[in-house]
Amino acid sequence: MSAVTPLSRSIYRGRLAVGVGILLLLGLPTLWNVLRRASPPSIHREAGLNVLLITIDTLRADAVGIYGQPGGITPGIDRLAAAGARFTNARAHNVVTLPSHANILAGRLPGEHGVRDNAGFRFPSGLDTLATLLKSQGYRTGAFVSAFPLESRFGLARGFDVYDDRFADAARPAFLIQERSGRDTVASALRWLESQRDSRWFCWVHLYEPHVPYAPPEPFASRFRSEPYHGEVAATDAFLTPLLEPLVSAGRNGRTLVVLTSDHGESLGDHGEATHGVFAYEATLKVPLVFYQPRLIQPVVLDTAAQHVDVLPTVLEALALAVPPGLPGRSLLPDMAGEKDQTGSRATYFEALSATLNRRWAPLHGVVKDGAKYIDLPVPELYDLSSDPREEHNLAASQPARVEALRTLLGPMRDLRGTAEARPETAETRERLRSLGYLAATGNNLTARYTEADDPKRLIALDALLEDVVDLYQAGNLTAARARCRELIERRPGMPLSFVYLAQIERESGRLDEAVKALRQAVALDPDNTEAVALLGASLTQSGQAAEASRVLETYERTHDPDVEVLTSQALALATMGRSKDALATLARARELDSSNAMLFVSTATVLLMAGDRDAARAQFEAALRMNADLARAHSSLGILDLEDGRPTDAVAHWKAATAVDPREFEIILAAGLSLARARRTAEARAALEFFAANAPPERFADDAQRARELLRRLQ
Ligand SMILES: [Zn+2]
Repeated sequence: MSAVTPLSRSIYRGRLAVGVGILLLLGLPTLWNVLRRASPPSIHREAGLNVLLITIDTLRADAVGIYGQPGGITPGIDRLAAAGARFTNARAHNVVTLPSHANILAGRLPGEHGVRDNAGFRFPSGLDTLATLLKSQGYRTGAFVSAFPLESRFGLARGFDVYDDRFADAARPAFLIQERSGRDTVASALRWLESQRDSRWFCWVHLYEPHVPYAPPEPFASRFRSEPYHGEVAATDAFLTPLLEPLVSAGRNGRTLVVLTSDHGESLGDHGEATHGVFAYEATLKVPLVFYQPRLIQPVVLDTAAQHVDVLPTVLEALALAVPPGLPGRSLLPDMAGEKDQTGSRATYFEALSATLNRRWAPLHGVVKDGAKYIDLPVPELYDLSSDPREEHNLAASQPARVEALRTLLGPMRDLRGTAEARPETAETRERLRSLGYLAATGNNLTARYTEADDPKRLIALDALLEDVVDLYQAGNLTAARARCRELIERRPGMPLSFVYLAQIERESGRLDEAVKALRQAVALDPDNTEAVALLGASLTQSGQAAEASRVLETYERTHDPDVEVLTSQALALATMGRSKDALATLARARELDSSNAMLFVSTATVLLMAGDRDAARAQFEAALRMNADLARAHSSLGILDLEDGRPTDAVAHWKAATAVDPREFEIILAAGLSLARARRTAEARAALEFFAANAPPERFADDAQRARELLRRLQ
């Protein structure tokens, strides 16, 4: 701990007494300043305070009002920050969601916990976090998160009594990240807090609004018509009001320590990057960081080099709890108490590895120290942040000695290897894939040599092409999306992500064989991409090759912490092969890994239905809806069961609920109607077809509705 011990305090006093005579010569105002800075720091701590951690996804530091954005964009955050300690020089270590939250919650660098990207990683089960540490101190713990990368399956739920990751969209649409409105997340957190009146609590609230797509609700859509990103930031601030307002109003009577930060920023076009994840310039690396608790912290603005790994030791020290040894960060309380930084200038490590993992671009690591920022890439970069805050003048070529010093400093931080398993890759997985014909003899790995041609600075134009593919896909223009994907593959053949994108387009076009082909290439390029593996398994099963799917998936199922999607895909393959028992056992394993995942109940129910056990299936669908009332697939399936059981009114109610959440569920209802008609169960078929014809949105289902109406005429 960096608290001042009595011994060092007395030494300090002695020095001051000696120096006073000289100081008198300096004049009174200077003396006053020196005395004030030199006076013993008054670090306040208070056991038993509640802790509220707010993380706002993709919130650029300078998009916050009090950090410089004009127009009263974030009045709530501004009020909190003005009454607390605000750090103007705080940085993340990662520029994507899951690793960054792992850094914040564990107080560990990515090399220590091993989570380097959103997909394909799971926070290790052996590391403590704020949740596990505070829970062991008798705290009640609750997390309320708003987007898929923080789902409990990725390992951050450990230590939380309640981990609320309910998102409305159950079946994940391609290219879209499931999220829920911050308004709903805050409402859920407030309900939990209401029930914690008599206990100490730690509450983590994560809001996702500023992340793409930028689609702020009114009145922010109108107010920020030309700047929708900032509209999302303003909406986030409004959603937080019911949470923050009472705490700020309580002032010194409040017993909650509030920490507010973001996981990373957003480029908004800086250096040619539209969003975040590729580069680590200040637009995405700098984060707002605010601590608020008037009993401990006086209003102050600090330009100390603060970092995400400092959050955990700061919180623990504020609560007068012991800080575990060996952490890379340190408590910021002495800084807030006016003590000069005793540890000297520190280096902040950062990295951006997503593009290496899913595109095979050169890995980006770097370090910031004393206002110098070094980015280690095939074309190295060095910036003087004080004279060049926009990082426009690369000094690396003209200052080789400085580059060398920073590169030496970076080495051990970059090469940190904690106890955590990195990607689930194992030699065995690779060997089995090779034997199944999925891997070329050479394979790929991350220790490959990278040249200037692999530098993300040279490749950022491809990032825009990837975004184009997504935009075209979402606009329903699959032909153009496919052409753009092919162009990407031609321009840079080794990017696994292009093949995953192509596969999604082919699946949507109903061309399963082409999807399988693309996914085989994705897996060959990146055997650790479990998303591609799960999708490959599902595509093989759907195209009549369940046994092949099961063989490939089995390779991954054997790893210590198999991916939940991989297990679900395997269960589908096994159920299709008639091995329902094995399928159910596989899903039970997935549920152990991710107990709050309601979709796993839906998958279990689906396997039970395939095995003909309708009663057990119904119970599982109903259990899923108790966990998340908005699960479209559970509603549509229960509707079909109700229909078969002679309760058409109940069926229609379920279908209405299902299609209100996800219009794609009309397809299931149509399929049910068609198969009931084929089975000559006319009354039931009519109910499903009538619902479809009357309610399916014409812009999407015009032809199908026509077909349903014709069939209805024939059934009369
Ligand atoms: Zn994020």
